[in-house]
Amino acid sequence: MKHRKSVKDYIRTIVDFPHEGIMFRDVTTLFADPRGFRMCIDELLHPYAGEEIDKVVGLEARGFIIGGAIAHQLSVGFTPIRKKGKLPGATLSQAYALEYGEAVMEVHDDAIQPGEKVLVVDDLLATGGTAAAGIQLIEKLGGEIIGCAFIIDLPDLGGRAKLEEMGMDVHILCE
Ligand code: 5GP
Repeated sequence: MKHRKSVKDYIRTIVDFPHEGIMFRDVTTLFADPRGFRMCIDELLHPYAGEEIDKVVGLEARGFIIGGAIAHQLSVGFTPIRKKGKLPGATLSQAYALEYGEAVMEVHDDAIQPGEKVLVVDDLLATGGTAAAGIQLIEKLGGEIIGCAFIIDLPDLGGRAKLEEMGMDVHILCE
């Protein structure tokens, strides 16, 4: 039987990017392939079939690519959560710890209505810091998070456990 490629087969690893010693999981090769991209979007959505979702939130930057495709598929709106200073309107901010120092994520303060059912998406879950900051912003606006979906988990870094401790339903396609 012909071998059908899985989502993981389309992801490429770049050694020593952006720093020496880092193995960067590059999803541009997945997004560039018509079957790969379609499979990735379908599999991210699979557990939520039949569920009510009012809005998709994507985390900068690759979360915008998958989040836009998912929102279009569901015929719902899309909201970006961005790094500090990128959003033009009034924002809420949430700081989170990095290995050295901290970073800040922001959302427009009118981008999610109280009670809206939200699906959060990003390409990769590492420590979970970025996603946790996004979750806190959505919850501050009164959004109800029905799931957090990622393409890749780096399980040694503990992101999934962190999000599950926050009460999140986490869906990830590969490790
Ligand atoms: P965390 O906050 O969970 O430690 O890191 C996750 C964030 O960093 C995600 O927004 C993700 O896009 C980015 N990231 C970290 N390492 C990688 C990587 O190897 N590949 C990709 N594609 N993104 C990464």
